[in-house]
Amino acid sequence: MGWSLTIGRVFGIPVKVHVTLLLLVGVVVAMTASTPHGGIAGLLFAALVFGSVLFHELGHALVARRFSVETREIMLLPIGGAAVLSKSPDKPSDEMWIALAGPAVSLLVALAAWLVTLVSPVEVARDLLVVNLILGLFNLIPAFPLDGGRALRAGLVRWMGMLRATRTAAKLGRLLAIALVVLGIYHGQFLLGIVGGFIFVAAAAEERGTMIRAIIGHRTARDAVQPAPQTLGVASTAAEAARVFRAHIEARALPVVFGDAILGVVHRDVIEACAGNTPDAPLQNFLDRNVLTHNGSGSLLALLQEMGRAGSRIAIIVDEGSLRGLVVLEAILDDIRAARHAEF
Ligand SMILES: [Zn+2]
Repeated sequence: MGWSLTIGRVFGIPVKVHVTLLLLVGVVVAMTASTPHGGIAGLLFAALVFGSVLFHELGHALVARRFSVETREIMLLPIGGAAVLSKSPDKPSDEMWIALAGPAVSLLVALAAWLVTLVSPVEVARDLLVVNLILGLFNLIPAFPLDGGRALRAGLVRWMGMLRATRTAAKLGRLLAIALVVLGIYHGQFLLGIVGGFIFVAAAAEERGTMIRAIIGHRTARDAVQPAPQTLGVASTAAEAARVFRAHIEARALPVVFGDAILGVVHRDVIEACAGNTPDAPLQNFLDRNVLTHNGSGSLLALLQEMGRAGSRIAIIVDEGSLRGLVVLEAILDDIRAARHAEF
């Protein structure tokens, strides 16, 4: 989520606007500017939509706060908004309340606007009614990544567990996305197609993220450590490394040391691919130095995030000066794949 401007804070929560939204507002204003007062009306309407989306997101954020989940930021995007929570709610029922709070606020604003139109039919109130009705009802569609999808998932968790509930909500999200794209093409509504495309991508991302959290979220970094059966001296050859890998079929990588210092690792796939051609080559040539050294405390997710930032496939776990083993990214990805297959 780069390319955004912080426009202020509401209830201590930073509110950001994505540049694509500013561009879109600019385009709308430019398109309506040719009519008398059109530009100003366009700007007012844009402000009204902004405000409505912000209210909707504040609904999520303030109810989240009630369940002691802080909101890192509220991002206003062309397709709506997003309240970025600092963590997942503890209980499914908390998640359901947080998810429903946004549409509830939108529908309340719509109700208030409707009451105003009964008294005096001002255009602002009509616009406010329509915008908030759409915001409230569209978001209640039970499909990821919409609020209704989150609420549905929270409701299903009790019956089918986190993974299957997520799968179901994401599947509905993909169906909705396809339906929107088809409708968009059929009616020549370009914007509907874009919204559909966005929902498809977001549903997939939400599914993947939740899967990974559900499968490994409870694991500590220490749980994932595979002991290193042996270390290799940096002066040993590719052929020697290949022999050690043959003797320890479970090892995907081995630490390479120089005296007491761990220089990096050699990977099984690299050695197996090269050792046949250049058996006498020193391990120096195959050394992966881009490994993270870590003491193994904290959660596995946090360690993986650190590895991701460093671009490391492997973390070397060293605790109180002694080598505990390795955390291997591919091994964890295999665990995730296996858990997904086992569940479905
Ligand atoms: Zn929402």
